[in-house]
Amino acid sequence: MIFQPEIETMGREEMRALQLQRLQQTVRYVYERVPLYRERLDALKVRPEDIRSLDDVRRLPFTTKEDFRANYPYGLFAVPMKDIVRIHASSGTTGQPTVVGYTEQDIDMWATCVARLCAAGGATREDIAQISFGYGLFTGALGLHFGLAKLGAAVVPISSGNTERQIQLMADFGSTVLVATPSYALYMAEVAERMGMMDKIQLRVGLFGAEGSTEEMRAELERRWGIVATENYGMSELIGPGVSGDCTEKCGMHINEDYFYCEVVDPATGEPVPEGEWGELVVTPLMKQALPLLRYRTHDITRLLPGPCKCGRTTTRMQKIAGRTDDMLIIRGVNVFPSQIEGVLIGMEGIGPHYEIVVTKKGYMDQIEVKVELVDAGLLNSYGELEALTRRIHDRLKVVLQIDAKVTLVSPNTLKRFEGKAKRVTDLR
Ligand code: ADP
Ligand code: ZN
Repeated sequence: MIFQPEIETMGREEMRALQLQRLQQTVRYVYERVPLYRERLDALKVRPEDIRSLDDVRRLPFTTKEDFRANYPYGLFAVPMKDIVRIHASSGTTGQPTVVGYTEQDIDMWATCVARLCAAGGATREDIAQISFGYGLFTGALGLHFGLAKLGAAVVPISSGNTERQIQLMADFGSTVLVATPSYALYMAEVAERMGMMDKIQLRVGLFGAEGSTEEMRAELERRWGIVATENYGMSELIGPGVSGDCTEKCGMHINEDYFYCEVVDPATGEPVPEGEWGELVVTPLMKQALPLLRYRTHDITRLLPGPCKCGRTTTRMQKIAGRTDDMLIIRGVNVFPSQIEGVLIGMEGIGPHYEIVVTKKGYMDQIEVKVELVDAGLLNSYGELEALTRRIHDRLKVVLQIDAKVTLVSPNTLKRFEGKAKRVTDLR
């Protein structure tokens, strides 16, 4: 089902015209209302009326997470506090949290964005949607909550944690849609299997997001739950979830282009990459009132996939996030994304889908250790088989990563499980 066909199947020319008009409006708006942007635009000698085509977006300054920190908490807001109806913040794992605000109109736009993506991902108003994201300042839970409500689904705001109870209620309530991080959904599947509850569960769709995951992880989730797993993408600075999301064709995430103008740039130089190439996603929200931004550097690595989709939508898609510019590990000069390691591990025979990556330095040499769980604890007693499996994983990692990783096999159910965003990499260098 297409939630807003008039937008989601709009002709390309018409969409570009709409984007240009909204971009011009946004530049005027921030120039008048946000001191940081007035200063930056003045310094670049760019006036709002200089934006005459979508390509002129390149003349605009970038915005970064540091700008949020320097203006903590409300310095980038474009409306007085009386017009703010909601405040959220990012987790702040890498420093001061970034604080974001919404007007009533922003909240409604956000819900529309998410409703479109939930519909694209296979949810309908008939569904009972269990939201197993942690409720709180994190935008994920309330974002999906309002979006699914707008779609007309029955929302179960269970939040994350207390996993056995989650599974029990999932069966009792007849939940048909699960909203969670992929890593938590995987853990929940494990618990459901252990409780012997899988055949009492009626889940049919997983709407996953908030963290990266591979196609292999998607396949694993689909197999274990017996669902169609789609994912959606966003970040608190831009709105929360709602920027883009898979349709059930699973061929890239459709961007809500009438609300977000997306570019892909070379993360090192900030220059746009040729169409269709990989780089850092840069997003300019086009309709935000409380917290408008110009060219936000997401740090997420993707590429844009233009062209119509089998689902009927005409909006540009973005490929599954390959990683973040700041989670790329440089191991002895070689660039390694955790997602590449996940791609190798998941689905390999003899090991479970959970893993941990530890990076250390021995003298001048970087060392990378990959810990994975055995499926069968009995193997720990057979040195020969253990050795052979370890070698097999090592060799596959070597083919994909071009580096020698130390592989450690551990007992089943011993690695950490996650109820929200997974943290799988420990860099001790
Ligand atoms: P933070 O994690 O910085 O506290 P957010 O909760 O807003 O803030 O998280 C936004 C980030 O989460 C994105 O920049 C991206 O790296 C990641 N993310 C969200 N959805 C996805 C997705 N579907 N695939 C990959 N990464 C995602
Ligand atoms: Zn599609």
